[in-house]
Amino acid sequence: MTYDTQPEASHHIGGRYVEDTAGAAIPVIYPATGDRIATVHAATASVVDQALAAAEAAQPDWAALSPRERGRILTRAAQIMRARNHELSVLETRDTGKPLQETLVADATSGADALEYFGGLAGTLTGEHIPLGRDWVYTIREALGVCVGIGAWNYPTQIACWKAAPALACGNTMVFKPSETTPLCALKVAEILTEAGAPPGVFNVVQGLGETGARLVTDPRVAKVSLTGSAPTGRKVYAAAAADMKHVTMELGGKSPMIVFDDADIENAVGGAILGNFYSSGQICSNGTRVFVHGAIMERFLDRLTARLTTAVIGDPLDEATSFGPMVSEAQMNIVLGYIDKGRTEGARLVTGGRRVDREGFYLEPTVFADVTDAMTIAREEIFGPVMSVLDFDDEDEVIARANATEYGLSAGVFTRDLARAHRVTGKLRAGTCFINSYNDAPVEAPFGGVKASGVGRENAQAAVEHYSQLKSVYVRMGDVEAPF
Ligand code: NAD
Repeated sequence: MTYDTQPEASHHIGGRYVEDTAGAAIPVIYPATGDRIATVHAATASVVDQALAAAEAAQPDWAALSPRERGRILTRAAQIMRARNHELSVLETRDTGKPLQETLVADATSGADALEYFGGLAGTLTGEHIPLGRDWVYTIREALGVCVGIGAWNYPTQIACWKAAPALACGNTMVFKPSETTPLCALKVAEILTEAGAPPGVFNVVQGLGETGARLVTDPRVAKVSLTGSAPTGRKVYAAAAADMKHVTMELGGKSPMIVFDDADIENAVGGAILGNFYSSGQICSNGTRVFVHGAIMERFLDRLTARLTTAVIGDPLDEATSFGPMVSEAQMNIVLGYIDKGRTEGARLVTGGRRVDREGFYLEPTVFADVTDAMTIAREEIFGPVMSVLDFDDEDEVIARANATEYGLSAGVFTRDLARAHRVTGKLRAGTCFINSYNDAPVEAPFGGVKASGVGRENAQAAVEHYSQLKSVYVRMGDVEAPF
C-alpha cells in the first residue's frame, strides 16, 4: 500500500481533515523530478483560530487523564507508525526527496521511538515531597497548556513526533505547523494519533508559511513555542514569544566541527565525515561541515574520502539502491550552488563534485573542498547542502579554539584512538552534542539541542519533560499561622 500524495484536505483539526481553499495554494514538489505532487492551502486566520480553539478546548481533559492512559495512546501510535513504516517512508521520500534507503530507517522509525519513549515516561512524571520539619512542600508537575510546534523541511515526520510526544505526554495539546516545503507527513502523524485514541483537538496540524507561524506564536492562547528552523527565524520567533513571556524550545542551525587526529582510524573518520555531510544530501542541522584533519594524515584522508564518494549511488530516491538523493527544492539547490561558487572564488581547492547532476530534479554532486581557511564563507556559514569543508591543523589547543570560533554550537565530533584526548577535547568543545569516533547519532534517550546561536532548550530524553511542563510548589503548614499583628 502507498499513500496518495494529495491529502484529503490541507489541515487536520479536532481529529478530522479540514479544508479552506481561501488560503494561498502551496504546491508540493517532488524534488527528484520537479513535478507537482499535491497542493495544500495555507491556513487562513479562521483556520488558525479553529485549530487553537480545538487545542485549548481539549487541553484540560487531556491533562486530567491518568498519565499512563495518555502514555498508552502514544505507545499505540508508535505501534501503528512502525506497522506503516513502509508507506510512511515512501511519503517522506516524496515529500523531501530523501532516498527511501534512509527514510525506511530514520524517519517514521525515529518518530515512533519518540512516541514510544515518552509514552513509557508519561506514567513516571511526578512531583516531589520536600520535608521542612513539621511543615512540608510538595510539587506538582503541570502541563503548560497549548503548545505550538513549527517544523523545518528536512525531517518532517521526526520533527512532528519529537515535539508532539513529550508535549502530549506531559498533558499539553499542540498545534503543529510543518514547513511549507514538506507539508504532507505531519498530517499522517495527526491521523495516526487520532486512530490511536488521542481525543479531538489534542494534536492539530495547520499549513502555511512564516506568516502562519507568526500568527500562531503571537496568539495569547499559546503557552509554549517549539521551533525547528534556521537561526534567523529562531531570533524572530524567540523575540515574538518573549513579548508574552511564552516558553520556548529553539532547535536551530549549526556549523559543527569534526576533528580527525593523526591517530584516528581513517576509515571510521571518513565514514563519520560522509555521514555528517552527505546523509540526507547534507540537509541536517547537526552536520559536521568543518572537518579539521591533522596535516600528517590529510592526503590519506582525502584519498579515501574521494574513493568512497565514487561509490555513492545517485539516482531515483524511491529505488532502495539509491544512497544519495536530490536537494529538497530548487531554491535550496541554488543557495548551495551559490556557496560552491563562493568556495571557488575565495580560493578553496575543489577536490570533488561542485556541479548539478545532469538529470531532472534538484540534484547536486557530493562536494568536497580542501585547503579551506577559517575566514572563508563556506567555513563560517551554514550551507545546508552536500558541501564538506576540509581544514588542516597540527595542534590540539589550536584546533579546539578554531572549532569553537563560530556563532553556532549544535554538535561536534572527535576521531582519535587516544581515549584521554577524546574526553579532554569533548570537554572543551562548546556544543550541545559531542560524538567520539562517531557522528550524527540521535537516539531518543539522549538530550538533543544546541548552545549559542544553535538554540535554547533540549528535545528528547528526560530533559524534554522540563521543557513541556512546569512545577507548582504547594506549601503545607501543619501548625498555626504566626502573624506579626
Ligand atoms: P526556516 O527557518 O526557513 O523555517 C522553519 C520554519 O519556521 C518553517 O515552518 C517556516 O514556515 C517557519 N517560519 C518562518 N518564519 C517564521 C516566523 N516569522 N514565525 C514563525 N514561523 C516562521 O528553516 P528551514 O529552511 O525550513 O530549515 C532549515 C533550517 O532548520 C536550518 O538552519 C537547519 O539547521 C535547521 N534545523 C535545525 C534542526 C535542529 O534540531 N536543531 C533540525 C532540522 C533543521
